[in-house]
Amino acid sequence: MSGQEHHYDIVIAGGGMIGTSLALALAPLNLRVAVIEAVARGDRQQPSFDDRSTALSRSSQRMFEAMGLWQAIAKSSTPVRSIHISDRGYFGFSHIDAREQGVEALGYVVINRTLGEVLQNAQFEVEGLELICPGKVGAVDLQPQLVVVGIEEPEGRSRNLTCNLLVAADGADSAVREMVGISASRVDYEQLAVVGNLKPEQPPMNRAFERFTDSGPIALLPVTDDRAAFVWSLPPAKADEVMRLSDEAFMKELQDAFGFRLGNFSRVGRRSTYPLALSKASRLVAGRCVLIGNAAHGLHPVAAQGFNLGLRDVAALSDCIADARTQSNATIDAGDAEILEKYAEWRRADQRKLVRITDGIVRLFGSASAPVRALRNLGMLGFDLVPGVRSLFARHMMGLAGRLPRLSRGVPLE
Ligand SMILES: Cc1cc2nc3c(=O)[nH]c(=O)nc-3n(C[C@H](O)[C@H](O)[C@H](O)COP(=O)(O)OP(=O)(O)OC[C@H]3O[C@@H](n4cnc5c(N)ncnc54)[C@H](O)[C@@H]3O)c2cc1C
Repeated sequence: MSGQEHHYDIVIAGGGMIGTSLALALAPLNLRVAVIEAVARGDRQQPSFDDRSTALSRSSQRMFEAMGLWQAIAKSSTPVRSIHISDRGYFGFSHIDAREQGVEALGYVVINRTLGEVLQNAQFEVEGLELICPGKVGAVDLQPQLVVVGIEEPEGRSRNLTCNLLVAADGADSAVREMVGISASRVDYEQLAVVGNLKPEQPPMNRAFERFTDSGPIALLPVTDDRAAFVWSLPPAKADEVMRLSDEAFMKELQDAFGFRLGNFSRVGRRSTYPLALSKASRLVAGRCVLIGNAAHGLHPVAAQGFNLGLRDVAALSDCIADARTQSNATIDAGDAEILEKYAEWRRADQRKLVRITDGIVRLFGSASAPVRALRNLGMLGFDLVPGVRSLFARHMMGLAGRLPRLSRGVPLE
């Protein structure tokens, strides 16, 4: 093989939800792209395409539509037409409604494994896209004109690739981020998310619920077959305790905390836990390497925004690369400093804002102090009574605020 055959325009480290989405978003640009994913397809240990459910925002739905993938995703997704937000034991509650916001749905819930099927299958249709899986990025050498990427494969094999641009999409504990010398801060929320799904007596009917309780927030999302997916954030000791309970005892605990808005719970599925932390990279670019998704920012799932925010990274990076190609009217260097700086500049405000909003919600609703509780009940009232506040919040949650890249507006790249 000649050296040329090992060279790519873009190498994406991490073929999870975000890395795979980027590979597909770039498809119309006819670039040579490789995705390196550490965990084999179909392996139950795959950390991204697992049993969790993800609430896709309006802008994420539009983006998949513009990429020609929405029809396949829609088949197994559930529209959310209203969100009910409440604080257990207190009077404040609020309600966001799709009709009031002038949209058909506030978002759509899809099971990660199902989304993974659609995205991973679509990769095989993309010309010029190579999937190296299982393969782990184990070394990175940033040079002025290219990047050398060392890959570790099964049975102790290893090889090097070169590329113009290396994209780190390898998650919150990104090894690539560290290899290129970008530091990250991490705040442990000292909570675990206990997730799973169950059958409520009353079908959720496209309603999502966010309930703040003394032990932590509970999100209940409508999923297919009239089931509901739950994300229950708890202090680690309490999470361990409920994980050890029988299904019956677990449902009783969850029911006590959530209440009977959907009647009695039954048929709870397999439960799993996720540690919750806020992580933030100190910058998004180092030489010819750029960070996207959780490698750039890992959020608490309380506002269901992590993947949606990461998809806007994908849309912005694809947009910057597409623009550069239109301007040069020929082959482009995807790792050109101007492209990467434009991307970083564009993403800064949105990332900061979402970090502030989710972290603020966790802290405000995580406090048991009486003055804070009074304040947040007033806040919920204000949220409902002050004109425009609810709509503004809804626009942020739907991913429709600020200057959006083409794909997030539903406009195909080419
Ligand atoms: C309980 C819970 C519920 C959530 N719900 C929502 C929601 O409703 N809406 C929402 O928008 N977000 C939600 N999120 C956030 C969302 O899951 C993440 O933002 C999203 O998974 C990030 O995707 P990613 O591809 O950046 O990272 P990851 O999902 O971590 O994927 C990283 C990938 O990189 C691979 N990898 C790692 N290291 C290497 C390496 N060295 N070489 C090659 N490959 C490597 C991994 O195997 C993995 O496939 C939730 C998160 C949690 C924990």
